[in-house]
Amino acid sequence: MNFLENMLAFIFPPVCGICGKENENYVCKSCMEKLKLEKIYVPQIINYDGIKHCYISEYDGIMRQKILQYKFKNKAYLYKMFSEFFVKNEKVCRFLKNYDIIIPVPMTNKKIAQRGYNQTELIAKEIAVNIKELTYLKNILIKQKEIQVQSTLSQKERFNNVKNAYKVQNMQKIKEKNIILFDDIYTTGATCRECAKTIIEAGAKTVALLTIAKDFEK
Ligand SMILES: [Zn+2]
Repeated sequence: MNFLENMLAFIFPPVCGICGKENENYVCKSCMEKLKLEKIYVPQIINYDGIKHCYISEYDGIMRQKILQYKFKNKAYLYKMFSEFFVKNEKVCRFLKNYDIIIPVPMTNKKIAQRGYNQTELIAKEIAVNIKELTYLKNILIKQKEIQVQSTLSQKERFNNVKNAYKVQNMQKIKEKNIILFDDIYTTGATCRECAKTIIEAGAKTVALLTIAKDFEK
């Protein structure tokens, strides 16, 4: 555990990320049942143009609220709950075990400084702690330019905006490896696809996408 994680564990006793009641699994049984019943927790693995994408929810309702709180309301401790959603599902685990390395979609240092934590990094790391086949690596994919906020742009503009925004360093570490790329939300796929392309060009064998949610509105 690094300093930030120690601090978080100290400040926040384990609670269910949904109802807030104390719970050592970070999501309680009744909230989990409710999420399943209301078809909010619906782990899916889909395939587009040869790229596999696994997500556990639509970007809607309570899950959307939780993601927004996690990203913008300083609720960093929710990373435990989000990683539980992946590692407690058999289908998702079987899928993840086919890969060697998990890499978070990077943020620029400026963004990390503003937020105080890197939200994709915390979750990706926690998933690797739980899935022994996966190694978490950082400093592989880096963002080499500040881009406009994607949500303000049209679909076409989003693809242009992220073009050549990323680059791979420490290439030898991903050579011929099967990579999972983790991001919080899949919207148009512009960011994920640009990152996946960059990783493949750098010599990885395969890349698949893993996100908490998929936004069907866009
Ligand atoms: Zn609960």
